[in-house]
Amino acid sequence: MAERDDRVERLAAVRTQIADACRASGRGSDSVTLVAVAKTFGADVVRPVLAAGQRVFGENRVQEARAKWPALRGEFPGIELHLIGPLQTNKVKDAIELFDVIQTLDRISLAAALAKEGAKSGGKLPRLFVQVNTGEEPQKAGIAPGEADEFLRRCKDDCGLTVEGLMCIPPLEEAPAPHFALTAKIARRNGLALLSMGMSADFANAIAFGATHVRVGSAIFGERH
Ligand SMILES: *Cc1c(COP(=O)(O)O)cnc(C)c1O
Repeated sequence: MAERDDRVERLAAVRTQIADACRASGRGSDSVTLVAVAKTFGADVVRPVLAAGQRVFGENRVQEARAKWPALRGEFPGIELHLIGPLQTNKVKDAIELFDVIQTLDRISLAAALAKEGAKSGGKLPRLFVQVNTGEEPQKAGIAPGEADEFLRRCKDDCGLTVEGLMCIPPLEEAPAPHFALTAKIARRNGLALLSMGMSADFANAIAFGATHVRVGSAIFGERH
């Protein structure tokens, strides 16, 4: 019980920090959406956070989301679920059913699969962000910064998809600010309004660079095991 209260307290603290960061940048506090990253935590851990009013959540695995969220959606109205991990093409159908937002569009084969499956389900698709691999890390998913403009054009022209924003995960060992700035710059020149950047360690910094969505896990739920 005590631990659950901790999570609700930490949620409130994160909300306060978001509001402070918004104020420091002259932005309204409603200009940033807190995506509470619930990966690895079970429904009973998430439930008190839902009861405290949080409605936007992130998961990085389709299978885990499928096991956790349909029941929680039955208990709490207005949940918005974001996929923040890589999406395999053979899980596109499940992902469309489970998620309201897919933040990890990262290759044209996935764009084509989403377009095809969306057409089957009457054109209804989750909202889409393209993941940019700003550090050009080989082990990390995402479009290289230099290929982002062309990829966004192909999503629109070849696949008929509407992309609303960009998402990035800066390299662990580097200062995140240049990565946030680069992502914001690519979004700006492509007319994209939304920016998913910033995690527990750096969300205030990301807000200074224009983040509209921050993905915060451990600062709310505690350490993952
Ligand atoms: C796990 C994860 C997060 C949350 O990380 P924390 O450091 O726990 O806040 C954010 N974004 C992505 C893509 C993740 O996989």
